[in-house]
Amino acid sequence: MATEDQVKKSTTPKVFDSEAADCLVKELRSTFVTGKTKSYEWRSSQLKNLLKMVENSEKQICDALFTDLSKPEMEAFIHEIAMIKNSCKLALKKLKDWMKPEKAKTNIGTFPSSAEVVSEPFGVVLVISAWNYPLLLSVDPVIGAIAAGNAVVLKPSEISPAMSSLLAKLFREYLDDSVIKVVEGAVPETTALLEQKWDKIFYTGNGKVARVVMAAAAKHLTPVVLELGGKSPVLVDSNIDLTVAARRIASGKWGCNNGQACVAPDYIITTKDYAPVLIDSLKHQLVKFFGEDPMNSPDMSRVVSSNHFDRLKRLLDDDKVSGKIIHGGQTDKSSLKISPTILLDVPEDSLIMTEEIFGPLLPIVTVGKIEDGIEFINSRSKPLAAYLFTNKKQLKEQFVNNISAGGVVINDVTLHLMVDTIPFGGVGESGMGSYHGKFSFDAFSHKKAVLYRGFSGDAPARYPPYTPGKLRLLKALLDGSILGIIRALFGFS
Ligand code: NAD
Repeated sequence: MATEDQVKKSTTPKVFDSEAADCLVKELRSTFVTGKTKSYEWRSSQLKNLLKMVENSEKQICDALFTDLSKPEMEAFIHEIAMIKNSCKLALKKLKDWMKPEKAKTNIGTFPSSAEVVSEPFGVVLVISAWNYPLLLSVDPVIGAIAAGNAVVLKPSEISPAMSSLLAKLFREYLDDSVIKVVEGAVPETTALLEQKWDKIFYTGNGKVARVVMAAAAKHLTPVVLELGGKSPVLVDSNIDLTVAARRIASGKWGCNNGQACVAPDYIITTKDYAPVLIDSLKHQLVKFFGEDPMNSPDMSRVVSSNHFDRLKRLLDDDKVSGKIIHGGQTDKSSLKISPTILLDVPEDSLIMTEEIFGPLLPIVTVGKIEDGIEFINSRSKPLAAYLFTNKKQLKEQFVNNISAGGVVINDVTLHLMVDTIPFGGVGESGMGSYHGKFSFDAFSHKKAVLYRGFSGDAPARYPPYTPGKLRLLKALLDGSILGIIRALFGFS
């Protein structure tokens, strides 16, 4: 008969600690070194399975997104399911091309020779994702990791538990469990994972935790991609189609997870005299989108958790913004809802202007002339995205050339992340590295330089004993001076 201790041991769920993480990485590494994940066949079969997984599970995915965020089905489909399907289809279509070594030019110093850049998988990689687009932010990097031939562990966010457990279940059902794993959990589990030696870490989330991730990676010299956030500004000029601009801004702010998006407009800058008309137009669009009672609109996501609700409430309750709310401001903790809220002329040192908002609050800052907005943006940390609405060619050029941001969009917001031919990522405080499309494949590939030489044409001039004549010849060769080469070879002065 089993002792009491044995019974206790067998009924206690196994914790995912450092020892378990170590075993997991060893298991994946032992399979990775067999070369299993490197073949085109393995990569494409896994990508096909992933696509099938998403196609077959659309209802379960929408349900999980509704449970975690009350995300409307339309947003779930456009911003998560369709994005993943497109990403997967593109990888499947282009995989052979991406995997091909890229020919590179050589020079006289290595003549005769040829060279190429070979993309090789890093090895065993870790993807840590965030809660706001819990399908997209988890599966999109995994597509890049698989396409590049890596073994991969995904750690989804504990703040979106329905999606986290759905992903764990679906990955087990559809993907190669010997090299693609999901570890669910929060800080202790992530800490256990971060103690291990990884060949690449891809982290999406806030800058504070990014520093923890980077410090852990530094212990093993592991390269990282950090997909972070920040305060993405929208500069609004006055010579624009206001209805279209207000519709796009309102949709990018409140129609994308109710502001809980890394590229959501964080604040608007406009001129003092244009602010009233812009505000009227934004209010008008809000009523069109969500009706007179937005707190009960089925088209608006809720705030993800009571912690995030309290964080947003703190931004609103800050004494420095008292009296600045000009639209919205309703909050209901029981339903975790906050209505679309606009604030005008908030002080620069208020919490709402110093912290990333990541919710439905939109402050408007006014400046004397529109060009001052560029200076305002540049006086702060480099944002993940910067947006400009204008018809002026010169202002567009000034904005693109003078603002350092992860990405820039002119006359719209957030849409750049749907274009898979341009990289998506941050700079400075908004992150490092990028992905999407081929950039995802590159993010998970080491670019190995390969030089091929034969045995003929072995120039004695490069070998000792070194002589002035050999040096003259080498200098002439590197300068590409035909005359110099002839002089050095034949001893003419
Ligand atoms: P989060 O709370 O889900 O955390 C992200 C991940 O970090 C989770 O998997 C979590 O378990 C892990 N984590 C949290 N604390 C940790 C710790 N102390 N040690 C180790 N791991 C830890 O997400 P979040 O950070 O609230 O996400 C919001 C932030 O992410 C915002 O700043 C937003 O702008 C940014 N974001 C960026 C992108 C992008 O693509 N650039 C996308 C979405 C969100």
